[in-house]
Amino acid sequence: MHVIGTAGHVDHGKSTLVEALTGINPDRLKEERERQMTIDLGFAWLDLPGGETVGVIDVPGHRDFIENMLAGVGGIDAALFVVAADEGVMPQTREHLAILDLLQIQGGVLALTKSDLVEAEWLELVKADLATVVQGTALAGAPMVPVSARTGAGLPELKAALEACLAACPSRPDLGRPRLPVDRVFTIAGFGAVVTGTLSDGSLAVGDEVELLPDGLAARIRGLQTHKTKIERAAPGSRVAANLAGVDVAQLRRGMVVARPGALKPTTLVDVHFRHLADAELPLKHNAEVKFFVGAAEVLATARILGGEAPPLGEALPPGASGWLQLALAEPVAVSKGDRFILRRPSPGATIGGGVVVDAHPAARHRRRDPDVIARLETLARGTPGERLLQSLEALGPASLADGLRKAGLDGEQAAEAMNEIRADASLAELEGEALVMSRAAWARVEADLQVALAAYHVAHPLRAGMPREELKSRLGQEFAWPLTPKVFNALMARANERELLVAAGASVRLPTHQVRFAPAQQALVDRLLAIFRREPYNTPSPKDCAAQLGAGGQGEAMLGALLEQGMLFQVSPDVLFLAETYQAMVERIKTQLRANGKITVAEVRDLFSTSRKYALALMEHLDAQGVTKRMGDERVLKRES
Ligand code: GDP
Repeated sequence: MHVIGTAGHVDHGKSTLVEALTGINPDRLKEERERQMTIDLGFAWLDLPGGETVGVIDVPGHRDFIENMLAGVGGIDAALFVVAADEGVMPQTREHLAILDLLQIQGGVLALTKSDLVEAEWLELVKADLATVVQGTALAGAPMVPVSARTGAGLPELKAALEACLAACPSRPDLGRPRLPVDRVFTIAGFGAVVTGTLSDGSLAVGDEVELLPDGLAARIRGLQTHKTKIERAAPGSRVAANLAGVDVAQLRRGMVVARPGALKPTTLVDVHFRHLADAELPLKHNAEVKFFVGAAEVLATARILGGEAPPLGEALPPGASGWLQLALAEPVAVSKGDRFILRRPSPGATIGGGVVVDAHPAARHRRRDPDVIARLETLARGTPGERLLQSLEALGPASLADGLRKAGLDGEQAAEAMNEIRADASLAELEGEALVMSRAAWARVEADLQVALAAYHVAHPLRAGMPREELKSRLGQEFAWPLTPKVFNALMARANERELLVAAGASVRLPTHQVRFAPAQQALVDRLLAIFRREPYNTPSPKDCAAQLGAGGQGEAMLGALLEQGMLFQVSPDVLFLAETYQAMVERIKTQLRANGKITVAEVRDLFSTSRKYALALMEHLDAQGVTKRMGDERVLKRES
């Protein structure tokens, strides 16, 4: 599940491009919303050539454009950054770029729109200019695709570039603590309040009890939609519309956060690391009033400068400098450590910088320029030992705890602290004690990938008992960012088996819920075939005849395979099948005979069952191969009693 967001100067063709790509006119959706016809609003969704559907957040270009953009841009995976080929880079181009960079959006694609209006040489100039402008930002080196919504030129290339960009971007982790920053609120007649947002850090399901922060309102999720489709469960990273029971729409507003009850605590004081934009016009003064944007929330704040990097700290933080701020918020917001934020000057409105929340619940107002305070913030920003260990394990994939600690640069006391921390919040999944561990978040992704792979296999092969182990291994190997060695694969399978996520039986693996079921018409064919076997148990039809009896076009083979897998039929040679019970009885009779006489010939076996030499020979060769009998000239003797 991925979400892309548009950005770029007003009138550069964002909405037109979204419509050309998706066939959905964001403005028309807005009208629909006013008529309350759909709960998936202001957003479009795009089917990529590879089959993935991604959410598209388009920000219409009105005056308070940037502040609206900020409400939607937080959860996006990639930017569709638009620059009109005729106008080239404009002031808002730079401002949006700075915002994407401060929010550390992972990447994106640069679309040069309205390319039908310019000559080739002009286009080259705009491209060269744009390449310089994005240098050193999150979009440096992003592919540049000239497009025209008018002629359709470049649209397939743009989709391909977006697909490649998203393929490189990891899926959002499920940390078991869902947060939905609310960017829209509205009602649907007969259903009540609906909120939308981009879900992160966990999943939400219909029926979940939730809390709306900062107000602490209790609600229940009555319905969920993504891309206009009803769903039971929404995954992190997806665009979600949630219908809430137990609250009135008048109590809801943009900027609230939907979370599990008690999981998040609102705050009015946050410690942050801040980067002041180099092209900001003025220094940031101590106690300056700013607008703080985080998630979909916007709140006024006073910025206290705690300390900064060179140039030397005065009463203000100059443009281009970084530093530590404490923000005193005018109203409570629900934020978490690690959240990215933007600061803007209230009037005249301008983006001045942004950064990351380092402490969402600092104990008190800090003294300024206190080295202890700064040292503590630096440590917090770097992460606790436990967080650093988990980060390095995320990158390594399944590894030994010792390797994880080494990669995180933790030893001695810090290593012990890291261990205590991860034990305390059970954030580690042990595959083989300490020799092979992974983060619980990474394990959750493995679980999801396993289930998707097996479910897809069962749908494609309903008559097979399970997916061949090797096929599953190579499927999963393509999903993971780390190498899937046989040892690691076996350990993953063992854990999944233990946790009853799947059933690994011999060389095949299935979901516990999967069962081969014949359709009534198929069952009738099976019954007819088994009746033939019962009538003539020792003179049985060949596999080829059986398949032909069971159906044409591959169905017969698949059903015969299912009967063999289920153990109804038993195959003693490529040509000879028996009912399982017949086979058992034959083996027992032969053994009895051997125990009595010491030896047996193929002709004697043939006569014993009144069958033909073909069947008798196939059975005896099979028993030789099984190590039950041993051939000596024309006779067979018992090899061992089993
Ligand atoms: P937004 O403010 O960035 O969303 O821009 P719009 O999508 O509203 O487009 C602004 C104007 O540019 C509209 O008049 C569009 O018709 C026009 N426009 C958009 N894309 C193209 C294009 O590919 N070619 C031409 N010639 N005009 C375009």
